[in-house]
This record gives sequence, structure tokens and C-alpha cells, in this order.
Amino acid sequence: MVYKASRGIEDIYELTYIRKDGSRFPAVVSITALRDERNTIIGYLLIGTDNTARKNTEKALARANALQNAIFNSADFSSIATDANGVIQIFNTGAERMLGYSAIDVINKITPADISDTKQVIARAEALSLELGTAITAGFETLVYKASRCIDDKYELNFVCKDGTHFPATVSVSALRDEREAIIGYLLIATNNTALEQAAKIRLQLAASVFTHAAEGIAITDEQGTIIDVNDTFIDITSYAKDECLGQGWSMFSSDKQSAAFYADMWEILQAKGLWIGEAWNRRKNGELYAEMKTISAVRDAHGVTTNYVVLCSDITQMKEHQDQLEHIANFDVLTGLPNRSLLADRLRQAMVQCQRRHESLAVVFLDIDNFKAINDKHGHSVGDELLIIVSQRLKEALRGGDTLARLGGDEFIAVLANLVNAEDCQPVLKRLLLATSELIVVDDIVLNISASIGVTLYPQDGADADQLIRHADQAMYLAKEAGKNCYHLFDTAHDDAIKIQRESIGDIRSGLDRREFVLHYQPKVNMHTGEVIGVEALIRWQHPTRGLIAPIHFLPIIEDHAISLEIGEWIIDEALRQLSEWQNISIILPISVNISAHQLQQSDFVSRLEMLLTAHADVSPHHLELEVLETSSLTDINHVTATMNACCKLGVHFALDDFGTGYSSLTYLRRLPASLIKIDQSFVRDMLDDPEDLAIVEGVISLAKAFHRKVIAEGVETIEHGTTLLQLGCQLAQGYGIARPMPASDIPQWLDNWQPDDAWNV
Ligand code: C2E
Ligand code: MG
Ligand code: MG
Repeated sequence: MVYKASRGIEDIYELTYIRKDGSRFPAVVSITALRDERNTIIGYLLIGTDNTARKNTEKALARANALQNAIFNSADFSSIATDANGVIQIFNTGAERMLGYSAIDVINKITPADISDTKQVIARAEALSLELGTAITAGFETLVYKASRCIDDKYELNFVCKDGTHFPATVSVSALRDEREAIIGYLLIATNNTALEQAAKIRLQLAASVFTHAAEGIAITDEQGTIIDVNDTFIDITSYAKDECLGQGWSMFSSDKQSAAFYADMWEILQAKGLWIGEAWNRRKNGELYAEMKTISAVRDAHGVTTNYVVLCSDITQMKEHQDQLEHIANFDVLTGLPNRSLLADRLRQAMVQCQRRHESLAVVFLDIDNFKAINDKHGHSVGDELLIIVSQRLKEALRGGDTLARLGGDEFIAVLANLVNAEDCQPVLKRLLLATSELIVVDDIVLNISASIGVTLYPQDGADADQLIRHADQAMYLAKEAGKNCYHLFDTAHDDAIKIQRESIGDIRSGLDRREFVLHYQPKVNMHTGEVIGVEALIRWQHPTRGLIAPIHFLPIIEDHAISLEIGEWIIDEALRQLSEWQNISIILPISVNISAHQLQQSDFVSRLEMLLTAHADVSPHHLELEVLETSSLTDINHVTATMNACCKLGVHFALDDFGTGYSSLTYLRRLPASLIKIDQSFVRDMLDDPEDLAIVEGVISLAKAFHRKVIAEGVETIEHGTTLLQLGCQLAQGYGIARPMPASDIPQWLDNWQPDDAWNV
């Protein structure tokens, strides 16, 4: 600096000064040489000014410049500045990229109108009702016009690139003014909308293609339900042409498979929730029914008012058919087409419910073909199958309209006969079923002669559940087989109850005894010839609180070997003696015979216990008590029994030998046991009219009794003829249903008053 100054070269320098505190600042410095009159340099003058503010401004300017450049070179938007006439003056990098022109191509040469879709611009101008020239620039002037009046606006313009392609852009235009507010040019900033438009277009295309090509049928209706558009699938499903659908209501497809209530419900749900999903049966143009899965959604506007409905539907007819097939396979027998076990169980349950409601009966009929296995073995399975098909058809024909026929498998069929007002009403049907199976069947020229065995149980008389009813009918069917086949057998609920009781504990019988549920009924014994009533037999019954009157066969065998049988045995004697005394008090002298089991008779203290009982009823004569000894064949120690009976006879009691002829009652018993009466077992008496062998036995017993000087009485005299024959054979004493059934003690006086022997016996 000094050098230059010494040579008179004036210059300005930028220096950094350091203050006393060490801080620095930029300074502009000039140095001048100071000279004397001889021009000798005597010093230098430095004039320095603080340059900080200027430096800062310079930096800001540089930054602004960089930004400006960045804007101008941005690829994301194009900046185009024109002069007041619209001729392009600035064309940034973004504009170059977007439009394909370089700045040199356009600056001072063209207007923005030259590179935009003029038709569009003119249309826009017209829409604004502006008076514009016809020049190409006219459209662009619209923008300019507005910009010059400071109306900010954005325009959607189509730019035309150098290569002739178009692209949509959003353009904003602002007027550029000088300090006197005169317009010196316009700035256009445009962003490329292609991507956005593309996306929107794709969305629309997608929606359109979904609508057109959806695998589901789609229909759009107005708020009234009038169809305004349908897609191809919808046309495929309904087989109506599009034109035929448009303007129509939904009812054009409806079938009568749905009730009016169904549609009312549907509308109600739609209105409340804006959505209904469900299945419905509709009708195609050709009248064919089809099942559809349907979703109806309400389209609502911003105020929540329904403007349209969109109906999506798919044809599920095949699915339904498939489902039906599966259900059919699950519920029907493949061979005969009849319901199978599982469907039968359903139907039976329904029938039972209906039965209860209507107070009717139903019969469960179990039918099994006799010797079916033999047919299969002899003629082969295909003949067997054919036979089953024919039988199933015949059985069906033999049934009534509302009856169900099912095949359980093999040769087992079940029929449910419903709506029986009386239980007997099923009998004609059972006979028809037997007849239907016993008629000759011809399969492949083979003549088959078959029959069937049928077991029947009646509901609600048999109060079991559905499964048990089938089991009971099955059990009864086995009894029909045992009885010789080709017949039906009714399930015996009483017998079944007995089996159930057997399963129950002796404890029940014990509590029955404690609750005084046992009673004695009395069956008269008469002399048919004289008409005299010679006595009554006491027969025990269990008056059960829920099962009703139970016969001895159903509970005595259970307690046979149990101590309680002795207790009951004693109660019977005690009760019979009490009854004798009661009758005696009303002047009825009627001997009572009581059944005594072999087990009871063989008790070591039998005599003393009997004596105690007789003593307790001292007003009753022991002569009026007779003991019927049962199961004589199981009397083991004849000497002991003879002694016991003799001791009892000494007390005044009589003996009878019950059920004589059954088991292996030996003559020794007859000879040695002090029994004054022999009872001919009812099994021989019952059949003696038809069975010569039984008749021979009856005759034999009567002769034996005479030979051994014993009285003889016939049990089971069910008819007058029985009595007549017995009288002819020399047996005058009789007991049986033909004379009187066992009855409660209270009925005896009246019976005694009314009874008379039949005239036929009066010989
Ligand atoms: P049971 O001593 O031979 O008694 C006669 C049975 O034949 C009785 O049956 C009676 O109701 C029945 N009966 C009478 N007349 C006819 C007829 O004309 N036709 C037919 N089909 N049956 C007739 P119930 O009362 O059922 O007694 C059956 C058996 O149970 C008795 O045979 C007897 O062995 C035993 N039993 C009955 N009550 C007693 C009892 O109090 N003690 C003992 N230990 N056994 C008894
Ligand atoms: Mg008896
Ligand atoms: Mg008997």
C-alpha cells in the first residue's frame, strides 16, 4: 500500500482492523503519501471507514441471488416472466424441463399462449364474459386481464410441449409493476398436475372397472328403489338386458318364496341401519328361481338423507343346491331315498311335541324283515338291495299321508304313525304293513316270499324320549320274532317298568312298605255247581305313587332271596287276618287264602311267628285262613316242611298246594304234605279247550286229587266253557277272570251280593 501510495497510485484496500479489545471488523482503507515542498515524502495518511454494514448487505444479496437462482432452476415448477406485451422474458429450468423448450427458443420470441391449449383458454375467457381479441394470445389475455386487476386466481391449463404432447398444469398469474405502479410484465408460475390427474383418473377407471367386471352383481337405485344402473354380472345373474332393468323397481325379480313380512323387515332394517345383508330367492327372466346373497347399502348425502342404494348380489343357487345335496346325504338313506336315523330322530321329536299339544298318540313302529340275511346269502347283495327298495315302496304305500317312514340300515325300517286319536287306530296300519311285506316280490325273475316282524310302542303311553321309543319298539320287535315272526308285538310299558324297578334298589320296596303302599286285592273262589263262594285269595299289589298299581310279578322276584320278603310275607298274613276280622264285623264270613313262598315256609320259626299273628287277631278263627304253598318243587327238606305244616294245621290253619302240575311236583309231596286243597295251575286250564295234552293233565290232576282225597280247584277259569268242561271233568271249585278279577276288599261285599253262577253250570 505504501509503495503504491509513494508512487502516487491511489488505491482503496479492504483490511481487517483489530480493536484494542481484540475484536475485528472489516474496514475500507485509503492511503495517501504526505510530501513537503521538495516533494519528499514526509508521511502517509490512512483514512479507514468501518465496512461491517456493507459487508452484511453484500452477504444478504448473495443469499437472495442464490435463492433466486434456485427458484429459477427448480425442476418442480416452471416460472415464466413476460414483458407487458406477454412476450416471454424469463424461462426457468423447470419450464425448460416441463415444456421441452430451451430458454433461447422462447425468450423474446413467443407468448405463453403459444404453448398452451388455446381452445381451453378461450372457453375459459368466454365463461368469464370477457371481450377478447381473436388472436391466439386472447386466451392468455384472460389471465393477464385478471392479473392486471389484481384478481388472484388459479387456472387449470393444458400446456403443449415442444414435442406436441399435452400436460395439465395449475397456473397462477401475477402482474409485475414498476415503482410507478405501471405494469411492466407478468409472472406465471405453473405446476405439473399430470401425476395428480393420473391418480384421479386411475381411481375413476378402477371404480368403473370394479363396477363393470365385479364378480358380484351390482345395481344402483335411486332413493325410491328404482334401478338406475346395473353391471354385467347383474345382467348375467338375472338374464334381463340392461335396458329392461333400468327404471324398474326391485319387485321385478321377486319370487313368492319370501313373504311380504320379509320385505317389510328388510326395509325397516335398511332405514334404521343403512345396511341389510341376507339371502333371498328371486326369479330370472325365464322364470327360473335363483338364490342370492345380497348386501344393500344406503348411500347418504352430507345431511344424512338417503340418495341411493347400492345392491351387491351374488348367485348362490349352486352353493344352495350343493348344501341341499349335502343335507340330503346327511339325512337320507342312499339306497331307498328314505329318511335315515338322524332325520327320523328329528321328525320323531317334532311329532312328539305335536302329539302333546293335540293330546293325541303316536306309534313308533320298528319293522325288521324276517330272514333277510338268508336272501342276501342265497341271491347276492344286489337282489337284497332291490328287495329293500321294493319293500320300502310298498311300506310307504301302506302308510297314511302324514306318517314318516325311515330306514335305519340293513333290513330295519321305522315308521312313525302320528295323529292317532286312539291308540288302537294304528292296528289297521300295522296289518297293512305286514300284508305289504308278505306279498310275493319278484326281483330278476327270482320270486321272493318274505315277511316282517314288527314291534310297536305308543307315545305318550310309553313316556320315554325319542331314542328310547325306538329302542322299545326294537325290543318289542324281537318279541314278535320270538313269537314266530310275521306278526306285530306291542311294547309292554308295565313290563318295562318292572325291569326298571328291578334295577332300582330294594330300598325303594323298603320305603314302599314303610309308606304303606302295598295293598291286598282279593279274588273270589267259588263252587260253580252250588254257586257258593268258598273264599277269596289275597293277592298283593304295590300302589306306587307315580307308576300306579304294580303287579307282584314285577317286584316279588326282586326280593325273593332278601330278608324283606319275609317281612312282607308276615305283613300279608297280618293284613289278611285284619281283613277277616273287618268282614266278620259286618257278618261276612269269607275264608282268605294267602300265598306263602317256599322260602318263608322253611323259616325255622315259621310256626311260632304264625301263632303270634293269630294271637294278635284272636277274634278271627284260624280255620278261615288258608296258606297256598308256592314253588313246592323248591321245598328242600320234605321232613322239616311236613313237620312245619302239621304244626300249623294244629293251630287250625289249612293248606293248599298252588300251581300244581308245574315244576316237578312229585307224588311224594302230594302224599306227604298235609294240604287239603290242590290248585290246578292256570297254564293247563287256560289251554285245555284247545290242547288235548293240557286237558289230559287237568283230568290227571283231578283224578290224583280224588285218589289222595284232596279237594281240587281250577285256576284261570276265564270263560263259561272252561267252567262247563271242568264241571264235566268233576272239578266244581274254580277261580278266574270268568268269575271275578282280583278286586280291592271294599268291592267284595257288593260282588258277593250280585254274583250268580252261570246257568250253563247249573247241571
Ligand atoms: P297265583 O298264586 O297262582 O295267583 C293267581 C294269579 O293268577 C294272580 O295273578 C291272578 O290275578 C291271576 N289270575 C286269576 N285268574 C286268572 C285268569 O282267569 N286268567 C289269568 N290270565 N290270570 C288269572 P297275580 O295277582 O299277578 O299274582 C301272580 C303270582 O304272584 C301269584 O300266582 C303268586 O305266585 C304271586 N303272589 C301274588 N300275591 C302274593 C302274595 O301275597 N304273596 C306271595 N308270596 N306271592 C304272591
Ligand atoms: Mg295263589
Ligand atoms: Mg297259581
